[in-house]
Amino acid sequence: MTLREEVTAYVGLGANLGDPVATLRLALDRLARAPGILGLRVSGFYRSAPVDAGGPWYCNAVAEVRTTLTAPALLDWLQFLELAAGRERPYRNAPRTLDLDLLLYGSARIDSPALTVPHPRWRERAFVLRPLQELDRARVDDAALAAVADQAIERLP
Ligand code: ADP
Ligand code: MG
Repeated sequence: MTLREEVTAYVGLGANLGDPVATLRLALDRLARAPGILGLRVSGFYRSAPVDAGGPWYCNAVAEVRTTLTAPALLDWLQFLELAAGRERPYRNAPRTLDLDLLLYGSARIDSPALTVPHPRWRERAFVLRPLQELDRARVDDAALAAVADQAIERLP
């Protein structure tokens, strides 16, 4: 068996149906216990207005994940956890019980039908940039944050 190298990946979490804070906590707990996940560091929780969509406010966070899973295998887990939270996809940008996006996977660039990494929109979203900056200051520059300053978001206590 070939031992895979450890990679640091970033996962974006969002929820705006049901009890979003409880859903995020449960998903983080399940992710931390998944095989091939060596460790998790989690940002604070944020409350953000929906972007390009209606519905209730979102709860968002970002997790830094140390993993030996490949990027597709990590995405499989994320989708499994979405299903476990009762995720349905009635239409594009519909409100959701749980959305888990693979934002970054080491320095990998992936462009397959099922997976694009870095996530195509991660730099355009305050609900990604703000929590990511908490975890790794160097990854988010002030210009990127300034560009999303019009997006309504606040850190939960
Ligand atoms: P979105 O997160 O853009 O609102 P969905 O969560 O419904 O939309 O994801 C739709 C599809 O996006 C998934 O089936 C998945 O295969 C694909 N996808 C492509 N790249 C990524 C990524 N980096 N992270 C998560 N899903 C991705
Ligand atoms: Mg998604």
